This record gives sequence, structure tokens and C-alpha cells, in this order.
Amino acid sequence: SVPLSYFSGIGAASKVGVLVKGSNYLDVLNQVQTMVFDKTGTLTKGRFTVSQLLPVHGSSADLLKLAALAEQASPHPIAKALVQAANVKGTAEAPEELVGRGIKATYQGQVLLVGNAKLMAEQAVQGFAPVQATVGTVVYVALASQYQGAIVVADTVKPDAKATLAGLKASGIGQTVMLTGDNQATAQAVAAELGVDEVHANLLPADKLTLVHRLQQRRRGKVAFVGDGLNDTPVLAGSDLGIAMGGLGSDAAIEAADLVLMHDNPSAILQVRHIAQKTRRIAQ
Ligand code: ADP
Ligand code: MG
Repeated sequence: SVPLSYFSGIGAASKVGVLVKGSNYLDVLNQVQTMVFDKTGTLTKGRFTVSQLLPVHGSSADLLKLAALAEQASPHPIAKALVQAANVKGTAEAPEELVGRGIKATYQGQVLLVGNAKLMAEQAVQGFAPVQATVGTVVYVALASQYQGAIVVADTVKPDAKATLAGLKASGIGQTVMLTGDNQATAQAVAAELGVDEVHANLLPADKLTLVHRLQQRRRGKVAFVGDGLNDTPVLAGSDLGIAMGGLGSDAAIEAADLVLMHDNPSAILQVRHIAQKTRRIAQ
């Protein structure tokens, strides 16, 4: 039977804003050696602002308008920033979300593409030239297979992220890892700012699951995955311990996770790790 103190551990976790779905998960949290974090919305706020408009022909306003038309229906935090900055009415037709890439839609009878370099390359956009070594996420725009320009959007790290990562290491977590679909330059800048041990960029959601499986094969304790769940639900379910953002996260993510952070603040993970460590000592 389950020691009573595990139940008091769940109660203590709820007081710091973390929903623990079963007492066994506190035990798993004790055994975590590798903690894997999604970047956007997990270690960063996931609230982007437009920082640069780089049209190749036409005006900056036209470039931003095209991007916003395609992004109207997207729940992605980048989409929300573009729509807000452009303040356009109307939408492109038949917008399709291409996971880990961006949006494909139809505008005035022509194909409109808004997304990352992977999207531009796959759709054979003419005149496309990637923006080099810019810190910030670069969103590219193409209309009728012709490259229109780039928009740089910037996100900021959560105020408690750096201290949380340091605290987790001090609590005995051996390795912190950040996974992202974003570009290498931005990923490395964020990882360096926060002190993450290991970083993998340009990933599709399926690649994130493959990486978690590879980390599990290192056989150094359990592997936890922390994410906002936007396209990351399989990773939350496939890790030894899935931890979801309850505010930003989707219903599917909250469902798939073992721990849910009600206020999306990474520091709550550290608080629960300390609670779990104390709970174990009392139970033994
Ligand atoms: P992360 O791994 O940082 O959570 P995602 O998997 O959500 O990122 O997306 C990976 C990348 O795909 C983004 O950094 C962005 O370049 C591109 N992308 C995804 N969705 C969109 C969108 N709606 N608009 C523009 N770009 C997008
Ligand atoms: Mg994400």
C-alpha cells in the first residue's frame, strides 16, 4: 500500500500550484536524472514581439500583412504576435498548419507560405535566402513560390528559469536538456543565457520523442519532459515523467501529463522536487 505521507506530498504540491496526478509520480520525480525542457512557452514566455521587418521587395507593412493573413487562425505564439502587430482584418483561405514549420494558405488564388527555413526549402521557394546568425526566431514569407522577405520575432526567457535550472542541478538532477524547433543560433543563445547543459535545435515534434527515447537509453535514472504541449503531447506521454504548463498548455497536454504547473512557472518544479525528496525521507 502507498505510505500516507505520499498523500500529504500531493497536498503540499497543490499548495505550490502543482497538480500531481498520483502519489507514484512523486517517487518518479525523485528518480529523475535527466530533465528535458521544451523552449518556447516553457523556458521562455512564449510571447513574441516583432523586432525586424526585412522585405525583399514591397513595403514592410505589406510583408507583415501577408504574414498576419496566413496566421489568423493559428494558435502558435508566433502567429499571435504577427496578427497583433499587423492589426489586419480578414484572413487567407484554407490555412493549413504544417507542424514545426509554419502555415500554408491561399491568398488571392495564390499559395501563401509563412514559416521557417525548413518550410521555404521544402516548398522550393524561389529567391529564398536564409537570414544569417540573427538571435531571434526568423519567420519567412513567400507568395506564389516567390520569396517576399523575413520577419524577426523575439521572445524572452521566464524570470525564474535560470535559477530553477541551477536549483534542479543542486537537487541532484544530472543533466538538463533543451529541445526546440527553433533555429540553432537562437537555441544556443537561450541555452547559454540559462545554463542548460545540452541543446538540440531544428527539431520536429517526432524528433523530440526520438531524443527523449535516446536519453532514456543512457540508463542514468528517469527522464522527465517539461513542455507547453503545443504539438508536444506524444513527448509528454512518452517520457518517464511528463510535466505540462497548465496555463498555456492545451487540454490534450494537461491530459497526457503526470504533473501540471498551474501558473506555468518552472520554479514550481523545483519546489515539488524538494517536496518529493522530503516525502521519500518520511516514507522510508
Ligand atoms: P518549439 O520547439 O520552440 O516549441 P514549435 O515546434 O512550436 O517550436 O515550432 C518550431 C518552429 O516552427 C518555430 O520556431 C517556427 O520557426 C516554426 N513555426 C511553427 N509554427 C509556426 C507558425 N504558426 N508561424 C510561423 N512559424 C511557425
Ligand atoms: Mg512548443
